[in-house]
Amino acid sequence: MTEIKTSQMAYDLEDRYGAHNYHPLPVVLAKGQGVFMWDVEGKRYYDFLSAYSAVNQGHCHPKIIQALINQAQTLELTSRAFYNNVLGEYEKFITGYFGYEKVLPMNSGAEADETALKLTRKWAYKVKGIPENQAKIICCENNFHGRTISIISMSTDPQARADFGPFTPGFITIPYDDLISLEKALEDPNVAGFLVEPIQGEAGVYVPQEGYLKKAWEMCKAKNVLLIADEVQTGIARTGKLLASEWEEVRPDILILGKALSGGVYPISAVLSDDHIMLTIKPGEHGSTFGGNPIACKVAIAALEVIREEKLADNAERMGNIFREELRKIQSPMVELVRGKGLLNAAVIKPMNGKTAWDVCLKMRDNGLLAKPTHDHIIRFAPPLVINEAQIRESVEIIALSLKSFS
Ligand code: PLP
Repeated sequence: MTEIKTSQMAYDLEDRYGAHNYHPLPVVLAKGQGVFMWDVEGKRYYDFLSAYSAVNQGHCHPKIIQALINQAQTLELTSRAFYNNVLGEYEKFITGYFGYEKVLPMNSGAEADETALKLTRKWAYKVKGIPENQAKIICCENNFHGRTISIISMSTDPQARADFGPFTPGFITIPYDDLISLEKALEDPNVAGFLVEPIQGEAGVYVPQEGYLKKAWEMCKAKNVLLIADEVQTGIARTGKLLASEWEEVRPDILILGKALSGGVYPISAVLSDDHIMLTIKPGEHGSTFGGNPIACKVAIAALEVIREEKLADNAERMGNIFREELRKIQSPMVELVRGKGLLNAAVIKPMNGKTAWDVCLKMRDNGLLAKPTHDHIIRFAPPLVINEAQIRESVEIIALSLKSFS
């Protein structure tokens, strides 16, 4: 076994043996606890990415880790070829928790998005009566729903698509936060669903105008079109409500969850909807070997209980307000704009003297805070939701200090 003792060793091994499909910030993490992570040399950092909003409950949350250990020592995987004594308990729990009649458990966010696409198509043919193979799903420019072929077929990011064609047909792309375009697209009688992120996370934390989601939902309802909310990143308390859709009192017809459904402990995702939609999929028509396995079920129950017990949605809202207020006070010509909701935030960075968002992230790393640029000029700030006010203020000081070093 090769033991990694220095950062350089990790860089060299990953470069030599791993696919080059990521460009990580140079830091090698070895430990996490709450809002902090430590590198192999023992330096401590505030985590302001939370593994793309998966670690909402904080690193190595004891209750979630205990649920993982207990179940891993008892029964790990049965596949869905048999029943087990955990899945039903989880299904009852999660459907009650989010207020839906049924859940379909999967593993990654992309798989859950794929599941939602398939479910929408099935519903289109079995219930709405769209002619075979004619169903269309509306999606938005600058979306991010994952990396599978069908999902990148919806993408408008050239990097996500280049040399990966041919693409899956059946999608209509409209600008985000644009109800006029939605209205036009909904005129097509073969439209079955509208897939939307309540806030576009990967695109750079784009918060749409107030009322957008609500109006979109009403417009979909009027045309018998399903509103499919991808809350893989915005869900599970991140934006200051359990679901970002709740800000507009929207109940999506299909809800997609992932990431923080496990507190970052295990790959767990889920699609929720009611019987008239979910039961259009019959035995043998969709599934996954690991989806809804006993460990995942117990981990997800614990992760969701933590959200409730520790009132993390409320904390995200309060801490988010303080964070944005303080961030806006920083006098730096590099900060063009601060935006976000709850603890899903971003700063738009104007390059200065050849220094970009990447350089700012390197400097913040040196000063003890980890964040990552998205789309070159935007830095996302999304710490675990267990962060407290003193920690928020200390983090803003680190960000301010880092920005000032470029003036
Ligand atoms: N949907 C949204 C909104 C996301 O932000 C992401 C990941 O960032 C995904 C789907 C894909 O999730 P995963 O990486 O688990 O496949």
